[in-house]
Amino acid sequence: MSSASAPSAPSDLGPVPTTDPRATGGIGGHPRGLTTLFFTEMWERFSYYGMRALLMLFMVRTAAEGGLGYDTRSAATIYGTYTMSVYLLSILGGFIADNFIGARRAVLVGGAVIATGHFSMAFDSPATFFAGLVLIALGTGLLKPNISTMVGSLYAPGDERRDAGFSIFYMGINLGAFIAPLITGYLAQGPGWQRILASAGLDPLHSWHWGFAAAGVGMTFGLIMYVIQRDRLAHVGRPPAPAADGSRPWGRLALVALGSLLLIGAMLACDRWPEVVYGLFALQVGAILHFAFRADADSKRLAAILVFFFAAEIFWAIFEQTGSTISLFADRFTRNEVFGWSFPSSWWQSVNSVWVILLAPLFALLWIRLGPRQPSSPLKFALGLLFVALSFALMVPAARLTAAGRVGPGWLLALFLVQTVGEMLLSPVGLSTMTKLAPDRLVGLVMGIWFLAAALGNKLAGVLAGDFSGEDPGQLATFFWHQALGVGACTLVLLALVPWIRRLMGGVR
Ligand code: GLN
Repeated sequence: MSSASAPSAPSDLGPVPTTDPRATGGIGGHPRGLTTLFFTEMWERFSYYGMRALLMLFMVRTAAEGGLGYDTRSAATIYGTYTMSVYLLSILGGFIADNFIGARRAVLVGGAVIATGHFSMAFDSPATFFAGLVLIALGTGLLKPNISTMVGSLYAPGDERRDAGFSIFYMGINLGAFIAPLITGYLAQGPGWQRILASAGLDPLHSWHWGFAAAGVGMTFGLIMYVIQRDRLAHVGRPPAPAADGSRPWGRLALVALGSLLLIGAMLACDRWPEVVYGLFALQVGAILHFAFRADADSKRLAAILVFFFAAEIFWAIFEQTGSTISLFADRFTRNEVFGWSFPSSWWQSVNSVWVILLAPLFALLWIRLGPRQPSSPLKFALGLLFVALSFALMVPAARLTAAGRVGPGWLLALFLVQTVGEMLLSPVGLSTMTKLAPDRLVGLVMGIWFLAAALGNKLAGVLAGDFSGEDPGQLATFFWHQALGVGACTLVLLALVPWIRRLMGGVR
């Protein structure tokens, strides 16, 4: 168990002693390896968000517009299943790293699979399109949890820079997420680029595929960077030592793969029977209680991990409505202009990342300044939930004002600011806390569990957004208010549980 109070001997995924020269020399006095992971993940997220920005549009555009010509419902189902699977497969990816190839190699293989997936989408056929989606989901499952555990492995237990390190890493994520849609969007939809294609004798209707290819080029840059600078990471993410008889847990691997598929199936059932969600919640509460009241420290920590899981799931269920509820609100009810200049409503999708880029350094500084006096991670989580609840409460007056026509851009700007403060309190802190709470041999799996919360949250966000209706401002206000109240209630419960969770965490902050 890698705990703050009981430093363990460095293991395969174990920490670097702070006297190690590799422990500094990177961005902001952080380990050198952080800079490498920062840029690798920046390019991976560039590819993910760059492609995601085109995905819905490409599916609903007619063949005459270069798209697939799907109806909105089918496109939304494919979109929801894809975004959920990308995060859900982290469990499998984490398991493979922990038990077979180690995090370092998992990131390399995952990145290559992702790039192949994007390049597959550069071809114009449904077969290569779907093959691309499957490859990206599988590759991201391998890369995303394991690159995150490697960030954690750069710090010794109890190293106060860990949370700040994750805040910096998170900034890399958002740098990629911010730039990507601007570039891929231009390639896919920009009239200027289509003219260039036409004048070069190429089909301008293929512009979408240039956007997809650009995502692949981004991932390739990330991979090149990762390979060139591999020495900085030589001490982390090594493969696990094989069992005494040399065997590997193939049976359990098959079980995890099967379980992931079943879970995807169960989540798809939510579309038909939303009650499935309550069953899922009950299951989670049951699991928390089951582990919390067992005597051993590992079980108690697992219970704490599951509380964080639950909170994160609720958080993402609101937050991930950016692409649905908020994008509709932006499109239909917001005056999308600054200083008299109009911009496309889809540009709102970059605003969260802009706020993260502005706020992440402040949070990193804050955690360093506060050092051991900073709030405990369960308290940060509760505050994260509070802010996301506030963000929807803020939309209640905005919704009422739509009775008089479109509202100013200030509302959404404020919504994203408040949500991003919540995100900074929960998301990078969650990544960091998982690496602290997980037993070394399970760190990849636990990170996979963390991303599972995002997977379920994404799906729930879709279910909640299904009730969005723009016809009646009063109804719209209620839509936001009910969700704010629901999450507000969860915040109070979590606040009340903070001392208990801290006890479960047994010395880890
Ligand atoms: N925006 C962050 C990322 O892309 C967090 C995503 C998530 O965990 N839901 O990594």
